[in-house]
This record gives sequence, structure tokens and C-alpha cells, in this order.
Amino acid sequence: MYFNDQDELRSTLQDFLKSSPAILYAVARDQGGAELSRVQRADTHEYALAPFDQIRGSASVLETSLTSHSGNFLGTDSEQPAPLPGQDRILDLTIPVFSVVNPLLKNVDRAAFGTTLAASRTATSVYVIGYVQLGISLPQLLLESVPAIATVLAIAVAFVLLCIIFSRHMTRRITAPFAIIKRMADDISSGTAVQPEGLENSGEFKEIVVLLNTIIGGLNTYKTQMEVDHHLLSMKVEERTSQLSKRNEELNRAVKEVTETKNRLRQLAYYDSLTGLPNRRLFTEQLDLLLRLARRNKEMLALLFLDLDNFKRINDSLGHSSGDLLLREVAKRLTWCVRESDVVAHYIESSSRIDVSRLGGDEFTVVLNQLDSAESAGKVAQRLLDMFAQPITIDGHDLVVTPSIGIAIAQDDTGTVENLLKAADTAMYHAKTSGRNKYMFYTSNMDAAGVERLKLENDLRRAIERKELQLHYQPQVNTLTGTVTGAEALMRWQHPELGIIPPFKFIPLAEEMGLIGALGEWGLHEACRQMVELQALGRELPKVSVNVSALQFNQSFIKRVSEVLAATGLRPMRLQLELTEGIMMDDKEATLRALTHLKELGVQLSIDDFGTGYSSLSYLSRFPLDELKIDRSFVIDFDKSQNDASLVIAIIAMARSMRLQLVAEGVETREQYHFLRSNGASVIQGYLFSKPVPFAELKDLLAPGYFKEQIAELNAY
Ligand code: C2E
Ligand code: CA
Ligand code: CA
Repeated sequence: MYFNDQDELRSTLQDFLKSSPAILYAVARDQGGAELSRVQRADTHEYALAPFDQIRGSASVLETSLTSHSGNFLGTDSEQPAPLPGQDRILDLTIPVFSVVNPLLKNVDRAAFGTTLAASRTATSVYVIGYVQLGISLPQLLLESVPAIATVLAIAVAFVLLCIIFSRHMTRRITAPFAIIKRMADDISSGTAVQPEGLENSGEFKEIVVLLNTIIGGLNTYKTQMEVDHHLLSMKVEERTSQLSKRNEELNRAVKEVTETKNRLRQLAYYDSLTGLPNRRLFTEQLDLLLRLARRNKEMLALLFLDLDNFKRINDSLGHSSGDLLLREVAKRLTWCVRESDVVAHYIESSSRIDVSRLGGDEFTVVLNQLDSAESAGKVAQRLLDMFAQPITIDGHDLVVTPSIGIAIAQDDTGTVENLLKAADTAMYHAKTSGRNKYMFYTSNMDAAGVERLKLENDLRRAIERKELQLHYQPQVNTLTGTVTGAEALMRWQHPELGIIPPFKFIPLAEEMGLIGALGEWGLHEACRQMVELQALGRELPKVSVNVSALQFNQSFIKRVSEVLAATGLRPMRLQLELTEGIMMDDKEATLRALTHLKELGVQLSIDDFGTGYSSLSYLSRFPLDELKIDRSFVIDFDKSQNDASLVIAIIAMARSMRLQLVAEGVETREQYHFLRSNGASVIQGYLFSKPVPFAELKDLLAPGYFKEQIAELNAY
């Protein structure tokens, strides 16, 4: 610059251009600002430079200045592209160039200049010898500084991130122990602390954690100990409990067994095993209690005695098991019909005598408690009757069993168990005899005699099935030969308590009760059967006489006779039927037809008790009869009453004229014998020769001429 060496200047200025692409031009100026040299980028246009003092602005001579201006290109507008906004901003940097050589000294040669510069340290003053002006494109400069800015920014961001991570890490290192300690504290307080916590940290935190861990350890040991203790304790409790429960079980079992046995015994003693109802024994005990209660509370009590009307028939025709089912059903229905507080019982003995009980097993008793009136008992009884009207289905059979019900009301203090039972029983028999299927209240005029008779009736009902009936035979002796010509079958009733009951006591009863049909049929069958049996034994009995009640003599009777003959195989001529005058009394076509029918069967017909009736004797000629039996009453009194004697003689004559056989009944004395014999009655039936005898004894009397000796003796006097 001092020497204004253009080459040097240009090369130096070129170095500036090379140093940065942002430098558009470089100018060297002298100390006055005059331009010494200028270089600029080859690819750019020439720039119009602003005046020096404008470029320097307010800067002093020694200062570096930086001003900016918009790039004013030289040349025509058409050659220049329009710059982008901001693109034309150019910074002018002017830097003063200092030298120790005063530029105003002109004649300094190059050697001296160099020496001066070398000794510059000792120089006392420096001089501004010129300026270097650099034109820097602002956009270019910015462009160039982007990498640098980006680097700075990246470093800054990285720094910030690092700071964040670091602070985070630090925070965590500080708060984590707190969290652990808090959790441990929580665990301890809630009693769930089981795991000691580990902590890598050191310092106070670790100390706290160690402390807490010790606490937890202690707690855990305590807890374990507790658990063991608890376990042991519960094991002991369990063992003790099982021991106790075992003992309890044994005790229970024993109690149960005792109770069961007691119940079984009680059941056996007090209950009917068939129906499950209380039996007679329990019932009477209960009735006693209820009576006393009723008396104390001044309440009314009724006893219903109930007997099934046709149970036996069902039992016979369908069998005992059906009968049992029926009784069970009856028991059930009875229980339905009364209140729970009432007592229903099966009025039979304890089940140890079940067979006997079953024979009498159709009696039931019902106690009605707390009655408002006697009428209520009647209502209950009627309800029972209505209920029984509904058929009971047993083994596919619809059965209707009707009951007869007797009602006794317990009044004040008269009612003892015995009296009450007797009263209800009596009322029941009355209900039965007055047509069955009804109820009756006990009244005092149902007296004891009536009761006895009623009891007999009840027993008679069962006589056939109990095989209490039998036939005795009274021989009819031909006094001319001494041989038995026939025998009359006479019914006997072997009563289990009363002994042998004669027919005059039970035949009328059977007639009243409507039992005579069954009874007569049994007698007929039995007589025929035994006749056949006699024949099989080789004993000759020309005929057997069977009594026929007037009430028995109906439409079905003839049919039954032929059936019995067929069944037993007895020849009809061996059978004689003893009919009463009563049958002949209604002199009707029907009677004639019936008798004719019987004759056609081949049986013989006899008129019993002849002479006692008051009917006209016209029937004798009309009806097909074989025999007359002179009633005993005439024979007895022949020697006292002339009338009777005449009547006997007349009857004998009549029978002879009508060719009827004749039998004289009830002959006891030799006088009677002689009287009859002398008047022509040769066949005699009476105690004189034999009382009616059991079948077993009859056959001995049948030997031909058995009575011959006795007759000879009689005739001798
Ligand atoms: P009944 O038909 O007049 O029978 C004769 C009765 O006189 C029998 O009485 C007989 O034992 C009795 N008797 C016979 N000889 C004498 C005698 O020498 N002295 C006395 N004091 N009595 C004598 P029993 O057996 O008591 O029969 C009474 C009545 O009962 C019978 O009178 C008859 O009417 C009736 N009876 C008996 N068995 C039957 C029967 O199977 N069916 C029916 N429907 N009635 C019968
Ligand atoms: Ca007779
Ligand atoms: Ca008779």
C-alpha cells in the first residue's frame, strides 16, 4: 500500500475473496479513502461503491466500521436480474491498516521499510496508511453462517436434553427411596409387610430402610410365630371338636335307638299296624284324658262308634288283603272328615292278636272335642255317612261300604270311659238294626237287655264265617221196625262265650235281621253234604229233613235248593223240606207254583207244626205235600185235654185219608207213645227215642232195628 504495488495489492485482495464466498468485493484505499486497487468476484457485476465517508459513517480514523447499503449494480437495468428482497443488502466493512512508517515520508526504500517494520516494537507511534474495504453479501453471509448456527443450536438442544435427563435422574434418585419408605410404612401399618425392601442408595435413606427392614423382619417373625400358634391351636380345637362330636354322635345314636325302640313298642302296644290309627288301648287312654279335660273345661264331647255294615261280605268275596286295603282307606277317610284335635281310632285289640282283631276289625271310634252342641256331632256323623257313599276302589272294584254310627254325648260327670263306650256301642247296634247306614244318638231307653240282644245279633252276623254253627240230627223212628226212617236237621250255635245257643233264641233273630236266608242256606247245604257223607260211610238214612223259614221261602229259594243238590250230589228224594203253615197261609198261585216246582225237583215236602196255625185246611188238598208233622203241643197235653186228643186223632185220620205220611213230634213219654201208636201214628220223633245228636253220633243210630229192643220194651207195658 505504501509503495502502491498494484500486483501485491491485487493478490492480497484476491486472498480476501477466496477466504469467503460472502465477500463480493475487496477494495484497498489510501489514508484519504482514495481507491488504490479493487477486486471483485468474476461472476458478479461491478458494484457501485458508496462514497468513503458514507461507508465509514461516524467511525473515527482508527476504528473499523460496518455499514450496509443496498447493492447498486453498475450497468443497465436490462442486464441485471431483479434482486430478491433482502438479497441486495451488502455490508461494507472497512478496516484501517496501521504502519509504523509514516506514509507521508515519501522516499523510504523497500529495505528501510522492512527494517522499520522489524523494529516496530520500539516505534513510538503508528500511522493509518490506508483502509481495506470488504463488501459482504448479507444473504450469503447468513447462508454461510447456517451450519455454524445449526451446530450451536444442536449443541444447545443437546445440552437442554441432557439437563432434563440429568434432573430427572436426580429427582428419581431422591424420590424413589421416599416412595419405598412410604410403601414400607404403609405395609407395616396395614400389617401386610412381608418382604424387606432393598435399596441401592446410601446415606440416611438406606439407614431408614434398614431400620424399616428390621421392623418388617421382626413383624414377619412375629406373624409366623402367630400363624404356627394359631395352627396348633386350631388343630387342638379341631381334635377336641371331633372328639366331642363323636361322643355326641354316639349319644345321639343311643338316644335315637332308645327312642325308636320306645316308639316301636309304643306303636305295637298302642297303634293298629294296619291302619296306623290308635288301637283300643290307646283310644281308651286318650278318651279318659279327653273326658277329664272336657269336664274341667265344661265342654261337650261326643263319642262316635262306627261299624261297617257289609265289610264281611267284601272280605269274603275279595279276600283279606282287599279287606285290609279297604280298612286302610276307611281309616284315611275318617281322619279327613274330622278336625285335627279329634281322635280317630281303630277299635281293635293290640296288633299281637292281629288275626282276631281282623275278624272284628271293622269297628272304628271317633272322639269329637269341644262341641258347641250335640247336633254338631250329628252333622259330623252325617258327613261321615255322605263320605262313605263315595265308592272306594280296591283292586279295580268300586266298593261301597256303609257304616252304622252310634253317638254318645258325655254329659256333666256321668260320663266314664266305660259308660260312654257302652252307650255309643248300644246306639250303634240300634242304628244297625233299624236299617243300617245311619247314625243314632244314645238314649236311656236303649236298655241293657236290648244291648245284649244287639250283641247277640252282631255275633250272629259272624257265626257262619266263624264256623260256630252246626247241625244236630234227631232221628224219626218207625216204631213198627225199630229202624230210623229219617232225621231232622236242627241248627245249633256254639257261641264262643255263651256256649250252645238254642234255635228259638237265634232263628227269630236271624229272621228279623234278614240273616235267615244265609243261615238257612248254610243249614241246607250242610245237611245235604252230611247225608252224602253218611252214604259214603255205608249208613242208610232214607231222608233228611231241613227246616225252611217262611222268610226264607222266596223266588231264589228253589234255585238255591237245586244248586245245593247239584253241588253236594244228594239225590233229591233224600231231601225233605219242612215248611210252616205260614207259607201255606197266603193261598196264592205263586205258592202253588213254587211248591210244584220243588216237587218237580224231586224233593219231599212236609208241613211242620201242623195244627198250630189258624188257616183253612183247604191247602192240604191243593198243594203237592208228602208229610204232616203233628205239633208237639198237642201230644204233650193229650191226656189232660180231650180237645187235643181229639185233634191228634183227627189229624192222623186226615193224613191217612190224604195219603200223607205222618210224624209225631215231641214224644217224651210211654203214654204219649202208646196213645199215638194206638191211634195209628207209627213214626215218632222225640226225646223218648233220642234227643237231637251231633252228626258224629247219628250214624250209630242208623243201624237197622237200632230201636227194636226199646220198642219191644215199650210194647211190653
Ligand atoms: P221244630 O221244627 O218244631 O223242631 C223240633 C223241636 O222240638 C226241636 O227243638 C227239638 O229239639 C224239639 N224236640 C224234639 N223232641 C222233643 C221232645 O221230646 N221234648 C222237647 N221238649 N222238645 C223236643 P229245637 O232243636 O230247639 O228247635 C226249635 C225250633 O227251631 C225248631 O222247631 C225249628 O222251628 C227251629 N229250627 C231248628 N233248626 C232250624 C233250621 O235249621 N232252620 C229253621 N228255619 N228253623 C230251625
Ligand atoms: Ca221242624
Ligand atoms: Ca215242629
